[in-house]
Amino acid sequence: MSISIELGNVSVSECECCGKRSHTMRGFVSDDGAAYAVYFAGYTEGHREIMATLVVSLGAWCEGSTPDERECVVMKVRNHRGKIEMMVVGVADCPWDDLQILGRMLERREALESPTIADFFHVADHVIERDHRLRAYLIGERVRTTAHH
Ligand SMILES: [Zn+2]
Repeated sequence: MSISIELGNVSVSECECCGKRSHTMRGFVSDDGAAYAVYFAGYTEGHREIMATLVVSLGAWCEGSTPDERECVVMKVRNHRGKIEMMVVGVADCPWDDLQILGRMLERREALESPTIADFFHVADHVIERDHRLRAYLIGERVRTTAHH
């Protein structure tokens, strides 16, 4: 297995709880060059706790596949005293409600009992390692600047 990540676009919206800027980042994961997973990651500037939401979708992501061939799991990712921690949460803790494309969203218990939960964690590990936008938020690493401003 050889996982690689391609960063997708970022959108900014108003946080529902406080009106501050919420960033939603997208990304595409491939395994040996074949589409493997898609994720959404998000956080809000100025929230007291450093806590991001990560939704990982696994299943069929090839050309012509449909959402009912995929499942997604919602996780919260936080920096707890310098250590990145992940926990699976439920549908109610997902800030986005337009994620039909990611497939059926599993409830926490269902996710934890799923035989594929290790695959979701595996993808999440790679995302946290490789998505520098998310890392910048979680651990304060400098974001590599892009050519345009
Ligand atoms: Zn807020």
